[in-house]
Order: sequence, then C-alpha cells, then structure tokens
Amino acid sequence: MEVLSSENRVKSFVEMVKGYSREQALKEAQRCVECGICVATCPAHMDIPNYIRAIRENDLEEALRILYETNPLSATCGRLCTHRCEEVCAIGKIGEPVAIRWLKGILLTRYRIRI
Ligand code: SF4
Repeated sequence: MEVLSSENRVKSFVEMVKGYSREQALKEAQRCVECGICVATCPAHMDIPNYIRAIRENDLEEALRILYETNPLSATCGRLCTHRCEEVCAIGKIGEPVAIRWLKGILLTRYRIRI
C-alpha cells in the first residue's frame, strides 16, 4: 500500500495511507469467498463478507451502510483496530489474506469520513 513520504506527513494532516482506487478495491473484493470466518474475530462482529460483496457489486453506499449497521465507530475502528480478521482469513491459508482493512478504508476515504 502506497503511503505519503515522511516529508509530506510532517507538513499536513492528510491520511498517510493513500488507499485503494475504486478499481483496485473491486479487484481485491473479488478474492473474498464469503466464508464468514473473519466475522467471529471482529470485536464489533462487523458483517465483513457482506460489505465486501457490496464493494464487489460496486455499491459503495450499501457497503458503507453495512459498516455502520453493527459499528457506529467504524471510522475510528477502521484506523485503530489490529485487523485480527485478516489473520484468520481463509484466503490467507493459500497466500495473502483479503485486505479487509484497505477495503474498509476506501469507504471511509470516499465518503470523507474522518475520526
Ligand atoms: S475470512 Fe476472508 S474470504 Fe472469508 S469472508 Fe472473511 S474476508 Fe472473505
């Protein structure tokens, strides 16, 4: 994931992680097999497979709605949580896990949701 250089970081409050483009997010969302294993490890029990499916279907507004359905502090948690969901992701058994945090990040960035 591309990040801002330290020179630029010290001069602004812009998010340091640049995040996915919409195209990158659609591609990443296609890797999810909707097994739901990740949900049990999320302390907020966010409906991860369903918001990823909404991203895959290019319905970002629905994905955002699903985020806030179980977690009214999605913007804060999305930036601070330790992403245990990615540690248990089924796809991680055969390669890189689905980048759940960056998929969530595109929603928060696109709708300019800040902490
Ligand atoms: S564990 Fe991985 S593959 Fe399964 S639903 Fe969660 S993100 Fe998708």
